[in-house]
Amino acid sequence: MNKTVYIALGSNVGCKRDNMKQAVELIAALPGTQVIKCSSLYETAPWGKTDQEEFLNQVIAVETTLQPGELLQELQSIEIKMGRQRQEKWGPRLIDLDILLFGNEVIDDPQLTIPHPYLRERLFVLVPLAEIGAELQFPDDGATVREVLSRVLVREGTRGIARI
Ligand code: ATP
Ligand code: CA
Ligand code: CA
Repeated sequence: MNKTVYIALGSNVGCKRDNMKQAVELIAALPGTQVIKCSSLYETAPWGKTDQEEFLNQVIAVETTLQPGELLQELQSIEIKMGRQRQEKWGPRLIDLDILLFGNEVIDDPQLTIPHPYLRERLFVLVPLAEIGAELQFPDDGATVREVLSRVLVREGTRGIARI
């Protein structure tokens, strides 16, 4: 059965724009998968490890017949195929593909946690997600993306994130 899945893309190495475009094309070519919405691109300040190049971030919605674990494997293969080197935690990367939401599933496994463990804290993901799915509800507590985003905005403002 088709599920609607939200995927976050990030890049801060090489030609970031080309990396994002290529990743969307490779995701669209996955078996049983269609890209149905793409947010704008956002230039964002690095999070967690701040002494590195700015990122480009985007969120896309796909419909897929893949199971969550299968989709994660496919996304990791795309990261490797595109040349991502796994180095330090939260360090520079050519492409990072994270599953944010997968239908209404809640998965509590370190290999695959859904909703994504930091989704509720990261403006660089919440802002593009709200652009394409403000009324989406978190499957665990029913909060909408709009509500979660406005709480973080009250705390942090919009510094460090620009739509391009
Ligand atoms: P963060 O998870 O904080 O965004 P990161 O994206 O830099 O950090 P990675 O090195 O890309 O971390 O991934 C580390 C591991 O996270 C992966 O091997 C994967 O098994 C696991 N993981 C857990 N939940 C998810 C998810 N929802 N989407 C993608 N990977 C996940
Ligand atoms: Ca990530
Ligand atoms: Ca990741």
